[in-house]
Formats: sequence, C-alpha cells, structure tokens
Amino acid sequence: MLSPRQQHCLKAIGIRRWVERASVTESAAIAPAPLTTESPAIVTASPAIEEPALPPATLDISLDSWDAVNHSIQRCEACQLTSNCTQKVPGVGDQKSDLMIIGEGPGHDEDIKGEPFVGRSGQLLDKMLAAIGLSRSQVFITNIVKCRPPNNRDPHVDEVQACNRFLRAQIDLIKPKVILSSGRISAHSLLNTTQPVGRLIETMHQLPDSQIPVKVTYHPAYLLRNPSAKAIAWQDLKTLYRILHS
Ligand code: SF4
Repeated sequence: MLSPRQQHCLKAIGIRRWVERASVTESAAIAPAPLTTESPAIVTASPAIEEPALPPATLDISLDSWDAVNHSIQRCEACQLTSNCTQKVPGVGDQKSDLMIIGEGPGHDEDIKGEPFVGRSGQLLDKMLAAIGLSRSQVFITNIVKCRPPNNRDPHVDEVQACNRFLRAQIDLIKPKVILSSGRISAHSLLNTTQPVGRLIETMHQLPDSQIPVKVTYHPAYLLRNPSAKAIAWQDLKTLYRILHS
C-alpha cells in the first residue's frame, strides 16, 4: 500500500489511474508499488549575466572548478546558439548532490529566467521530486546545451558537441550517484544512441567512460502532453529512489 504522503504526491503529479504497461502507446505503465531501497540492475551500454566586454572563452582553459566552468559558459561563443539566447543557463542546485537531472536545452521561460526547468514543466518536475522526498534545491539540474535553441528546435549535433565539455565538467565536479536523463535529446546525447526513449526507459544505462548509472525518463513537457505516461515516470522515480538509498 502507498503511504498517505506518497498518495498525496502521486495525486499532485497527476497519477490517478493505473493502466497496464501494454496498453500505453508510447511505451508502458505499471501499477504503483511502495518505494523500496532494493537496487535495480544496471545494464552497461555503451542569473542573467552579460559580460560583453570579456573576450570569448578559450577551449584550452581548465574546467576543474565551478568558477571556471560558470565563467567559461558565460563567455562561451563556441556555437551559434550564443547569438540567439537572452542569457546562458548553466544549471542550478546542489553542486554536491547525489542526483543530477539533465534535460535538453533552455526553452523560452528558462531563457528568460536563466534557470532550467521552470514554467509548467518545472512545476511538474518539482512535484515528481517531492514524490521521492526531494526538493529542487537538493538536486543539480542542467541541460545538454546551455543556450536556448531558436524557436525551441532541437540542438544540432555540433552544438551538443560544443557544449559537451561544460556538461562533462559539471558531471566531474558533482560526481553524482545517478543521473536522470530527461527526454530524447538528453538520452541520445548522453548515451550516444538513437534508440527510442520508450526503449531506453526500460532498463538502466551507464554514462560512457564512467561508472555513473543513467536513468532515462520522459521530459516533463512530454508528460504534460501525455498524462498516461506519468505512471511510467513513477516507475522511474522509484528506481531513482532505490539507487539513491542503496
Ligand atoms: Fe557555448 Fe554551449 Fe552556449 Fe554553444 S550552447 S554557445 S557551446 S554555452
């Protein structure tokens, strides 16, 4: 049985009805079960700052501190996305968190506020985190690219590659116990794959060239458009809970 707190959190997320995995179009849904700390098996797969007077960041600068990473991101002109965004969106949260959440790129609201996952998607993410006893300030949230792609298009491969040094530096500094990869762009970029998200969700992965487990889940924006997939997201949250408490 779910505890009253879990029931409250699930209701806040929007999960009110459980459907069989096979009946969900995108992938699957499973009836909820209480949170447990049994670890899942891991399958190894392969604030607005504007400094126009500063010179562009050089690629050979060492990104071994948060100051270096954040300063370099703010000065970065390594791809064309810098010319379209209002401001850089490096990421927010606990820089020593066990959980790192990685989305795809800043959208309109994120570009304006300078913070990832705000607006309706961010509110849903906050509720999802609350369901496993976490607040936004207790995790670190960032994106694959730190500048908003114009018209919310997918970031191009060269843009992802150009920004990857910042993401990898952030991962190296945080050393998270687990990464939650939110959405297709994030999963494909992190795992270097083109498999559908619905397939990637089915198992655990490992960040290439590291020992860090990666849990793929749907982006909150997708969950807002497809409420039936929230049951799957609950399964992903339970997996995260087990890893974080193992
Ligand atoms: Fe630099 Fe990343 Fe922004 Fe491109 S998206 S300009 S690589 S910070």
